[in-house]
Amino acid sequence: MGEMMNRTATNRQVALVTGSTSGIGAAIARRLVDEGLFVILHSGRSQEKGMALAAELGFAAYIQADLSQEVERVRLISEAADIAGKLDVLVNNAGISGLIPHDDLAAASPDIWRAQYEVNVIAPFQLIALSEKHLRKSAHRKGRACVINISSHAGVRPKGGSIPYAAAKAALNHVTRLLARSLGPEIRVNAVAPGLVDTPLTADWIEAQALWKAQAPMKRAARPEDIAQAVMMLIRTDYITGEILLSDGGLNLT
Ligand code: NAD
Repeated sequence: MGEMMNRTATNRQVALVTGSTSGIGAAIARRLVDEGLFVILHSGRSQEKGMALAAELGFAAYIQADLSQEVERVRLISEAADIAGKLDVLVNNAGISGLIPHDDLAAASPDIWRAQYEVNVIAPFQLIALSEKHLRKSAHRKGRACVINISSHAGVRPKGGSIPYAAAKAALNHVTRLLARSLGPEIRVNAVAPGLVDTPLTADWIEAQALWKAQAPMKRAARPEDIAQAVMMLIRTDYITGEILLSDGGLNLT
């Protein structure tokens, strides 16, 4: 990592974006670097992809960590804070999904519920808890400390890939509001709740794609860049906290 990285990074606001080697997270990372931040990329696996993206983006580093494991979360935040000696922004983007018909209750097994909560609720909460001291220091430097959780429209409306997923995202939305109260005024906490986004994850979600094309006022699914734009907007504001920003092309209106 070395001295040079430290000097380069400290001139910029530093953001950790979890799950950022593909899909929405990669688009967020690109946008943040374009806007002048230094980004710490992360993924559960795909280490080579992460290193290559960090090299391509320049103002970036990469850390691998399995967020289903508590010790890995601790290591991630400790290594992230060490890279530039500070942490100003945390984007909790990493998540798991999966399709289970809502009327197939047996398929939504307790193991699936536990996995959903572990990665989509407990991990983001713990990453915020572990980052709190770094974000508070950032606030004192006027680093505009904030957290952005990527939840889902499925956490707002009774929809989504599966009931455990939707319930976990609803929990993440509530955690967002609760933590906005606990961590203000130093740290703002918001969420972006995407509808359908074109990523490798949703490449074969044919029905959802048809629904968005036919019914959403925007007549298309989101591109990962659309979600990155919403994240950037929340990073740049000073007075918005506890907000769940629905970014679904207006489908909720239909
Ligand atoms: P993706 O599969 O491309 O990316 C998910 C990322 O999460 C990957 O980088 C992966 O490494 C990481 N991840 C998953 N499990 C992990 C674990 N145990 N440890 C560490 N990292 C782990 O998916 P995406 O579509 O870009 O989704 C990103 C976020 O957006 C997720 O939270 C997802 O729920 C949410 N979202 C996506 C859509 C959509 O339509 N694509 C819609 C609403 C919400």
